[in-house]
Amino acid sequence: MLNLVLFGPPGAGKGTQSKNLIDKYGLIHLSTGDLLRGEIAEGTELGLEAKKLMDEGKLVPDAVVIGMISHKLDANKDAKGFIFDGFPRTVAQAAALDELLESKGSSITAMVALEVNDNELEHRLLLRGKDSGRSDDANPEIIRKRIKEYNDKTAPVADFYRGQDKFNSINGIGSIDEIFAAISEVTEKY
Ligand code: ADP
Repeated sequence: MLNLVLFGPPGAGKGTQSKNLIDKYGLIHLSTGDLLRGEIAEGTELGLEAKKLMDEGKLVPDAVVIGMISHKLDANKDAKGFIFDGFPRTVAQAAALDELLESKGSSITAMVALEVNDNELEHRLLLRGKDSGRSDDANPEIIRKRIKEYNDKTAPVADFYRGQDKFNSINGIGSIDEIFAAISEVTEKY
């Protein structure tokens, strides 16, 4: 199995590059952001609670996203592999993911980290907010809060995978094709 953690701050291009990876390797895309927006669209209780936090730029509780991922792993038993996009976002989530995969006789193959500076991120997210309709992309204050949450809680996840020798840094500034070529170079190693 090829199990990739696609890592990077909000606006780094994880969604765009996930599409390329799915086309190339036939992996299942698991984005906790998309799963949460699905819950919101369906108006579930989980969705209502998550929306409040998401609109403030905060993370939703670990247990919520771990539960969603566990459910999706069970629902895709025959998958060739997974792309984890926007998850794990905390060290506790990373440890829980290792346990979940281990219980299925599998593991994370590699982490691919897209590196983009904060100014460029803010610029990209504001642009995206203009046509995505995502309320968390429309407000500069919320965007800065998300980047801060990332630096405080999510950036340490990189060290978790560094410790397992699975960390790979990719420059997230450049054309979509250039960045995908750099990602492919990493995945070909495994
Ligand atoms: P982006 O990568 O642009 O920040 P996402 O679509 O991945 O956007 O996530 C949107 C929001 O959903 C996050 O700001 C956060 O509130 C919530 N969220 C998504 N994934 C997680 C996660 N793994 N843990 C906690 N909160 C999450």
